[in-house]
Amino acid sequence: MKIRYMTCRTCNAALPEKSSQGDQWHRDCAECYPKNALPTSVNDAREIAVHFEDRSLRVFPHISNDGLLAMRLLPNMQSYVLMANGDIRMRPNDFVMPEGLPIQLMADIERSFILTDRRVAEAKRAFEAYAANDFEVID
Ligand SMILES: [Zn+2]
Repeated sequence: MKIRYMTCRTCNAALPEKSSQGDQWHRDCAECYPKNALPTSVNDAREIAVHFEDRSLRVFPHISNDGLLAMRLLPNMQSYVLMANGDIRMRPNDFVMPEGLPIQLMADIERSFILTDRRVAEAKRAFEAYAANDFEVID
């Protein structure tokens, strides 16, 4: 028999109305997610679910190697990063800018990681939902 969990297992607050996974595992709510202790490796990130239009996104929040908030969305192999100016970047996690390049070339390389296609909407939804605590914790 399936039990549908409607409330957080830690604080008993209501889970999001669209909670899609609360019928198998007892979830935590967004308030109980350790936002101030995000890991720097996506491999250590706790999964959350963000509802996007008619589907749920599986999201792994973490801190990028340059200290910015990053979100890995399955099945992507790289993470979205929200830049200070609102741009969304996606570049390999292990990317390191080569030393000694002309400043303009370094700027061009950085700009090449900025997304301008439809992935931007998906990424922004994930960041907005995270900021607004509009998600549920999967593990
Ligand atoms: Zn809770």
